[in-house]
Amino acid sequence: MHAWTSPDIPALPGHGAQVHLYDTLAGAPAPTRPEGPATLYVCGITPYDATHLGHANTYVGFDLLVRAWRDAGREVRYVQNVTDVDDPLLERATENGQDWRELADSQTDLFRSDMTALRVVAPDHYVGAVEAIPLVVEAVERMVAEGSAYRVALPEGAGGTEPELGDVYADLAADPLFGTGAGLEPEQMRRVFADNGGDPDRPGKHEPLDPLLWRRTRPGEPDWDGGSLGRGRPGWHIECACIALHHLGPVVEVQGGGRDLVFPHHEMSESHLRVLQHTPAPVLLHAHGGLVAYEGEKMSKSRGNLVLVSELVAGGADPMAVRLVLLAHHYRDSWEYTDADLAAATERLARWRQAMTGDGGPAAEDLLAEVRAALADDLDAPTALAAMDRWVDAALAPGAADVGGAELARRTVDALLGVAL
Ligand code: ZN
Repeated sequence: MHAWTSPDIPALPGHGAQVHLYDTLAGAPAPTRPEGPATLYVCGITPYDATHLGHANTYVGFDLLVRAWRDAGREVRYVQNVTDVDDPLLERATENGQDWRELADSQTDLFRSDMTALRVVAPDHYVGAVEAIPLVVEAVERMVAEGSAYRVALPEGAGGTEPELGDVYADLAADPLFGTGAGLEPEQMRRVFADNGGDPDRPGKHEPLDPLLWRRTRPGEPDWDGGSLGRGRPGWHIECACIALHHLGPVVEVQGGGRDLVFPHHEMSESHLRVLQHTPAPVLLHAHGGLVAYEGEKMSKSRGNLVLVSELVAGGADPMAVRLVLLAHHYRDSWEYTDADLAAATERLARWRQAMTGDGGPAAEDLLAEVRAALADDLDAPTALAAMDRWVDAALAPGAADVGGAELARRTVDALLGVAL
């Protein structure tokens, strides 16, 4: 499917440094590659409650990575998916009395317009689960043939005209490295799996954690041609594995998403990548953004505590102020949004713009170097904002130096932080 229109990124003199990122699984910062093409896969939305500040925090966070990599001279290949068919989406559509496609399309459109407003660089490939179905079918057929996936008998009434073809599950026993990523005990894995749409108690599975790859036809649910698997629809983890493999090739340099995806989603999809390719390390680095709370709890539609980007903007917020709200927090931090965050960001934006109104401004070469250094050090946006605040203070001070640095300052925050002044 189409993504959205990327903002123009102004040119900057010189190049940024090699980017280091905190690797969630290693529990330590690690260097990304110094040169050559970079591949990035960031898990996208399930389009039923787009785009709250938690989503925006993730995508703006990885947008900094795209910008820093490009500034360092690397060609970036970026893929993001849209889980445009899955249980939560179908359940929400039923609750709303709405066609699931209509819900998915409208929420995906809203996400695109929010990303455009926030000046997030678009992925090179923006791929829906539905359009990835042929890839999933081919991969799951291969896993069945190789013995790394198996069928589980269907409940009464399922399976349409081919009820003898069961649902298909991955046999995690085929991947000796499964479970080594997130560092959870087996009992924890089982609990988190169950809390995130897994079905540890389904009869007929080899192991409780084995994830669904292909769900056969159910009455009232959409289904697609599944070749030898029978009609049905894809599981979530295999969707991301297949899209990443098809569009990025055998090695994903950085796999990203919100922290709530570490397990089971990323552990499972990486396991599928290992099994499909017979390689031990298809993902080089795992990066995860923090979660955003509101009124004391993680944002979720069921709790009714969503702060939507579109609503903030409709209420008069400048999208660049919303972006500054997010950048004021390190992407890995979890934090709680309050109205004071937006007020502070709005004031900061006004000061930054005020500093641009003169025709001179102090030298900005140091600012550029500081912002580059901050981003190369695990995308440290708060430190970058502080550097710009200091430049703005100097620019607005009485008798400020006036050597024409404002243009470079403007281009620095636009190109590297995505804030247009
Ligand atoms: Zn994913």
